[in-house]
Amino acid sequence: AKKAGRNTWRVFRPGMDELIEKRRALEADIERGLPRGEFLLYLQPRVAAPSGTISGYEALLRWNHPVRGMIQPGDFIPVAEVSGKIIALGQFVLEEACRLLQGLEERLHVSVNVSPVQFRHPDFVRDIQDLLRRSTIDPSRLELEITESVLIEDDDHATAVLDQLKTLGLRIALDDFGTGYSSLSYLSRYPFDVIKIDRSFVDALGREDNATAIVRSIIDLGTALGLHIVAEGVETLDQARYLADAGCDELQGYLLGRPAAPELAIRQIDRDVAR
Ligand code: C2E
Ligand code: CA
Ligand code: CA
Ligand code: CA
Repeated sequence: AKKAGRNTWRVFRPGMDELIEKRRALEADIERGLPRGEFLLYLQPRVAAPSGTISGYEALLRWNHPVRGMIQPGDFIPVAEVSGKIIALGQFVLEEACRLLQGLEERLHVSVNVSPVQFRHPDFVRDIQDLLRRSTIDPSRLELEITESVLIEDDDHATAVLDQLKTLGLRIALDDFGTGYSSLSYLSRYPFDVIKIDRSFVDALGREDNATAIVRSIIDLGTALGLHIVAEGVETLDQARYLADAGCDELQGYLLGRPAAPELAIRQIDRDVAR
């Protein structure tokens, strides 16, 4: 330990400098890579249940790094959030999603993930408003996926932002539903249109005793509240059949299609999950 000031001690672990250095390099790389077109959106289909017709796509950010190749969001979004670079990345994601929507059939929607840092930024709503003004798409085709972590901090602010987004005509989804502490109370407090049942529940179907009961009650509750229910992480036909039977509205997962570059993703044909 090293004395950092009166009565203050900071612990330096070996390798800490190296970690900080790595993080700085990554930040600089993000800043350099964004204007050079290194970031792109992959699209993963969402299909209606039980018909299997593609109803839209989730946009998932990828970084095609000149040296490291394709980097997954888990490896750069946390750093981008700490450094504030997520604001520029998030803006790119929204603009790119609108651009893609313009080239898709009008009945299709695109959902984008919104970081808590982005959501709490004072310009968030204004930037979206500007974007929609510049674009010709119907705002209801754009869905924002937010997680509970957005809501814990500051209820009044979150409520105001969500209300404004609703007024703009966007659809709002509660992502990773069921993994937080207060999922149920949030459903009654905030104006969600969609809930996405977390992958962990879908994964447990048929393997853990209580999983079917939990999934069924999420679907029943959501349906009773008039929400649109999406299940994510659907990998097997058994899962798809169970979820469709239980009243889930849309399915997403490797069974229905992996995330892929837009030109590949939009060529995928509808999947029949009703068989
Ligand atoms: P998420 O929003 O829960 O996205 C779903 C993740 O599950 C994606 O990982 C997707 O590729 C993966 N997935 C889809 N179907 C299956 C399946 O059947 N089985 C399994 N095992 N996985 C499946 P990805 O693309 O690596 O994204 C990870 C997380 O990074 C996302 O989780 C989201 O939280 C974040 N993320 C991705 N794109 C963005 C973005 O544009 N902005 C922000 N703020 N976060 C993003
Ligand atoms: Ca998501
Ligand atoms: Ca999710
Ligand atoms: Ca339903």
